[in-house]
Amino acid sequence: MLASPPELLVEAIQQRLESVRERIENACARVGRRPEELTLVAVTKAFPLEVVQAAVAAGLTDFGENRVQELITKSEAVPGEVLGGAIRWHLIGPLQRNKAKEAARCADSFHALDSLRLAETLNRRAELANRIVPCMVQVNVSGEATKSGVAPENLPELLDGLGAFDSLNITGLMTLAAPARSDAELETVVRPQFRRLRELAEANDAGHSSSQLRHLSMGMSGDFEVAIEEGATHIRLGSVLFGARGR
Ligand SMILES: *Cc1c(COP(=O)(O)O)cnc(C)c1O
Repeated sequence: MLASPPELLVEAIQQRLESVRERIENACARVGRRPEELTLVAVTKAFPLEVVQAAVAAGLTDFGENRVQELITKSEAVPGEVLGGAIRWHLIGPLQRNKAKEAARCADSFHALDSLRLAETLNRRAELANRIVPCMVQVNVSGEATKSGVAPENLPELLDGLGAFDSLNITGLMTLAAPARSDAELETVVRPQFRRLRELAEANDAGHSSSQLRHLSMGMSGDFEVAIEEGATHIRLGSVLFGARGR
């Protein structure tokens, strides 16, 4: 067993969490939603294990990592449900097919599915691990070349194809909005992108027995309130909870 996390670290996270929860409540109130509808995924990438342990002590239950290697290390020490633990690990970053085996072993859910090739490999690995992996399909709504995710126009075809994979449960869509450089851009650039993701989920929900697109993973530290207003069910927060990180 590892030593319990330093009390000061736990308190610092608790304080930040309290202020984040207040902002979540206010955003929910503005659009008549309930905070209980939301899953707060605490993104611990680039932070040491100690931070994960302190965050658990502070009451957080869902954690996000964007690299498989880091997910392996952290989920060994603080296991998610699939490994017999009490929290959940969300793999939120792009996955290479040669890491699908480890993802199928360690990740309680995967937010960044974006191709049939990857789905095929992950499905086979999930089957071998005797489990069903909940997945969200990442959509590139901002159209930035640097972002992964399926193009919106190719989403219906991808969803159709995903119907063949019995060991993947497609629960919704995920996106990263373009970075907003001002409050004005939050409204003119980011909000329409989140709205687009919700509309894509609504438009593609019917007629795909394999996929019930009820989850929307969208919103990070800089834009989560807008995402909540536009229907996010999973917000992925790093720096607002844990401070600035190196990457
Ligand atoms: C790093 C990361 C986040 C969290 O970013 P913050 O701005 O620190 O909240 C959310 N989603 C993904 C996919 C990430 O890689």
